[in-house]
Amino acid sequence: MPIYDYKCEKCGNFEKQQRITEEALKECPNCNSKVERIISKNVGVVFKGQGFYKTDTSLIKDKMRSLNKERQTDNQAILDGDVAGFNKQSEKTEKKVLES
Ligand SMILES: [Zn+2]
Repeated sequence: MPIYDYKCEKCGNFEKQQRITEEALKECPNCNSKVERIISKNVGVVFKGQGFYKTDTSLIKDKMRSLNKERQTDNQAILDGDVAGFNKQSEKTEKKVLES
């Protein structure tokens, strides 16, 4: 879906993602003031560029998110390992204390 630029009398400029078949907004979704759709000189290019930029950014975000998730799992595993190791170590220490 392309992103259209609008100018609101009160809020200033904002972007709205709309279907090509949708009619242009006449009222601001924020304050219901009159809005104008801003027509760029390079309409197609600008919209396409923005669309791609948005897609790229959310793709990168998705990748970062899944990487983060994996890293968190790793961290958790390390933490769990440490705790298990620590527990084993303290068990050994207790046994040693009892045996002596
Ligand atoms: Zn407004």
